[in-house]
Amino acid sequence: MNMLESAEALIRRSAGKLGWSDDDVDELLTPQQVHEFEITVGDITHQAFRVQHSNKRGPYKGGIRFHPHVDKDEVRALATLMSIKGAAVDIPMGGGKGGVAFDPREFDDSHIEEVARKYVRALQEHIGPDKDVPAPDVNTDGQVIDWMVDEYELLTGDTTKASFTGKKIAHGGSQGREAATGRGGMIALREYCKANDIETRGLTVAVQGVGNVGFYFAQLAQKELGVKLIAAANSKVTKYNSDGLDFSGLEFSRTIMDELTGEERPSNEIIQVNADVLVFAALGDVIDAENQGDIQADVVLELANGPVDDEALQQLEARDVHVIPDVIANAGGVIVSYLEWQQNRAGEHWSEEKVNQQLDDILTKAMNDAAQHAATAKISLKEAAFSLALERLA
Ligand code: GLU
Repeated sequence: MNMLESAEALIRRSAGKLGWSDDDVDELLTPQQVHEFEITVGDITHQAFRVQHSNKRGPYKGGIRFHPHVDKDEVRALATLMSIKGAAVDIPMGGGKGGVAFDPREFDDSHIEEVARKYVRALQEHIGPDKDVPAPDVNTDGQVIDWMVDEYELLTGDTTKASFTGKKIAHGGSQGREAATGRGGMIALREYCKANDIETRGLTVAVQGVGNVGFYFAQLAQKELGVKLIAAANSKVTKYNSDGLDFSGLEFSRTIMDELTGEERPSNEIIQVNADVLVFAALGDVIDAENQGDIQADVVLELANGPVDDEALQQLEARDVHVIPDVIANAGGVIVSYLEWQQNRAGEHWSEEKVNQQLDDILTKAMNDAAQHAATAKISLKEAAFSLALERLA
């Protein structure tokens, strides 16, 4: 099952339990607008997309990824998940997602900048502070967003900077945005443990993905929850250390794996590590019916979008492996994006404490609402998050 099939299956199941008609579900699953275009730089052409799924609760909101696997179905699934995510954590933003199908690691900065600027030129009339507010996602960061904002300002004269979030701090970005998704994951794990009487100190954790999401999650979970990170993996290698990999004092960089001390194992062995908690913080579509049996952890934390497919989700839950769902666990990024958008519109710049506190309040409430609904309706946390979101989107 790919991400689109999984998202749709889960939505259909949750909507069915809420008594929605097939027509209502079909309407929800149909994106309001799909933009598909080409970006040519020199003699190279890349396929590009922006799917605007729903603006029922506010402007379309969601990242833009640069990755060779980007295709229309994936962007559509991710846009749908953004609508669910915004509703699951109850912020007044809709859902959208964008992508350009190329690997930025194979190109220099001037090529990437041109892709970013041409992306904005193609979509100019469809984006803006009250229409669609894009942000970073896989392989895009504050620099890419700053190029996009600059292009948008050149084209429209809008200087509020509220047309994009995830900007660098010097260019209208928010304190706390870079670490926000990782911090949100730490909060989600903390609340899960609190609700289930699990002591976080000494809890063993393995993390797939040490990009900015996995890195900040690991560092904050070690510092604030006292967990022991026994393994971390990127796409090339897993590092394992039963005494714990030490993330304290490290600065985020793309070569962070070199700074961790542990035994080296093949990259995909991370899935089988015997830890209490397994964290997916890389790409989607990692766990399916075939490999879910390899998971030994008791808890799976979805920090990537759509890492566990719907069949695997049901099999995991059936064998008592609980999944803390992506639409809440990784919502820290979009929550702080929403706070950044508010600051830009008000012409304000808030302290890191204020931003982190608001993030904590919003995410804690979302986790508690979902846990309560799951207990009352006797459904998984993931179904509970989806069903609360669907009610808010109805
Ligand atoms: N790309 C992030 C996500 O998937 C953040 C989106 C945003 O900040 O709008 O949630």
